Amino acid sequence: MSTEEHTQSCLVVGAGLSGLLAARTLCDRGWEVTVLDKGRGVGGRLATQRIEDGVFDHGAQFFTVRGEQFEQMVSEWWAAGIVEEWSRGFATPDGRYEPDGYPRYRGSTGMTAIAKHLARGLDVRTGQRVVEVARAGRAWRASTESGAVLSARCLILTAPVPQSLALVSAGAVGLPAEVREALERIDYQRCISVMALLDGPCRTPEPGGIQYSGQNGTGEPVWWLADNKRKGISPVPAITLHAGPQFSAERWEVADETVALELLGYVGDFVGAPVRRVQFSRWRYSMPVEPYPEPCLLASVAPPLVFAGDAFGGPKVEGAAMSGLAAAAQLIEIAEARP
Ligand SMILES: Cc1cc2nc3c(=O)[nH]c(=O)nc-3n(C[C@H](O)[C@H](O)[C@H](O)COP(=O)(O)OP(=O)(O)OC[C@H]3O[C@@H](n4cnc5c(N)ncnc54)[C@H](O)[C@@H]3O)c2cc1C
Repeated sequence: MSTEEHTQSCLVVGAGLSGLLAARTLCDRGWEVTVLDKGRGVGGRLATQRIEDGVFDHGAQFFTVRGEQFEQMVSEWWAAGIVEEWSRGFATPDGRYEPDGYPRYRGSTGMTAIAKHLARGLDVRTGQRVVEVARAGRAWRASTESGAVLSARCLILTAPVPQSLALVSAGAVGLPAEVREALERIDYQRCISVMALLDGPCRTPEPGGIQYSGQNGTGEPVWWLADNKRKGISPVPAITLHAGPQFSAERWEVADETVALELLGYVGDFVGAPVRRVQFSRWRYSMPVEPYPEPCLLASVAPPLVFAGDAFGGPKVEGAAMSGLAAAAQLIEIAEARP
């Protein structure tokens, strides 16, 4: 068991977009920050995977830009070659491309590119599953499955809320009743994601993505279909298919092969080539059903503990980004208010 006695400025649990942006912001102010993530790489739900020659985005597929602050950030990513515009709309379930003039962006080599860019130069430790966070006098202590113990004056938890709550419960951290109740109300949709490597060209229409949800469909059993080749991130035809939340919940325990047959059968006309290999991700916490109304939640002032992530303020990529910035701003405000 290795113990780090040194108390740093801030620990961040989660190297998804919100955690990385919080860490980046604090580091830019001279804070000493460590980010811990249980995953093999950074990005969380910004997830890009390679299977043979195929490259698949299997979490977030694209993002939109609404607020000015996010627009500014995306312009910088664009200038650095990290993101590109994918399209201005997607095809409908009957295969018609209906551009609406509103840009949808993707990572230039996949969505994880954004996280890798943000992580550069930060102290990010992957493969580190935090199992408990606890108060240690005027600081926080995080213990990992591998036996590491880190302490810091401030703590930001950016994992999906039920996972963050499990960490504070394990460390017997007392939260005010109204805070705990608000956090316990936050629920997430499930999503079964299928990645299929094809043996020939894919017939997914322009621009390489079909939205089965929204005005033109129910989103069940299929929510989304994309050809990652036409999207511009895979050298070979490689499709990502997302099941709808209801189908995903109902089939959560069903064997992969059965689910794949059912879903691929549904979109068969748009696949158009034999499937060579299939892999799955089961996202237990895909998107929050109803986000908390504020962009982050300060659960303790002394020592400071902030909950953040896409369940705060607004869902999706932009919501996660804004939450990370808000968490950092909250901590800076507290630090600067200290006598
Ligand atoms: C299938 C799917 C499709 C989506 N499609 C879109 C889309 O098209 N457009 C869009 O805008 N958004 C989409 N989203 C949502 C978007 O991906 C998220 O809103 C955003 O990426 C969330 O970022 P985050 O930092 O809040 O959380 P996350 O990315 O989940 O980051 C949390 C991190 O915490 C880590 N973690 C958890 N527990 C621990 C622990 N105990 N110890 C250490 N680390 C831990 C995780 O490994 C993870 O890396 C989609 C999500 C999914 C799953």
